[in-house]
Amino acid sequence: MTGWYYRSGGPRHLLQGGLWSPPRGQGLLASFDDGPSGNSLRIGELLAGSGVRALFFVLGDKARRHPEWLRELAAQGHLLGSHGERHERHTWLRAESVRESLRRSQDAIRAAGLEPSGWFRPPYGAWWPWQNRLLKEAGLRALYWNLNPHDYAGIPAKTIRDRLLRYRRERSLALLHCSGNNEEQTWLCLQRYLPELLEAGLGRLAPMELLPGT
Ligand SMILES: [Zn+2]
Repeated sequence: MTGWYYRSGGPRHLLQGGLWSPPRGQGLLASFDDGPSGNSLRIGELLAGSGVRALFFVLGDKARRHPEWLRELAAQGHLLGSHGERHERHTWLRAESVRESLRRSQDAIRAAGLEPSGWFRPPYGAWWPWQNRLLKEAGLRALYWNLNPHDYAGIPAKTIRDRLLRYRRERSLALLHCSGNNEEQTWLCLQRYLPELLEAGLGRLAPMELLPGT
């Protein structure tokens, strides 16, 4: 497989209006989709223990059931973005349903007493350029990735580590998953290889500096 495969942020036409990589600084910024879950918390705690702050793109329906998990992630120093209300392709939804998904997922973060970051990542990266106006209305901006080790694809921790290290750039935003079928391997990757990942720049980019509009 070529490097392009792991460095791609998704189909180009779906990415108009969103960002692929952190706008400034150098290093490796980790983002974790599909939480919150118990696994999100132990990942969050492990990273915080090394002074690493990450982005967690949470689903509204999960977040609403566990506002305490959101508060814990925020207390660990991480930034919370929206991954929509449910894990579905927003390219299949009508405008009104997309609006509702954006609104409800933001409200779930607010219901936990937290301020949403203003970042959104569509499930599967599935998004049409025309939908950007809905994001704008909701005061959100899309943040994609430029490093995708495909951690969800049933691969072992070591392979996730190998791909992160081999395909990273000067300024990488890694797509990882803290919930789902392969969440244990993502956890093990961080737990086992954290020193190497820190060496590779993990933690050198602070997600708080990624303000929408920059
Ligand atoms: Zn997802």
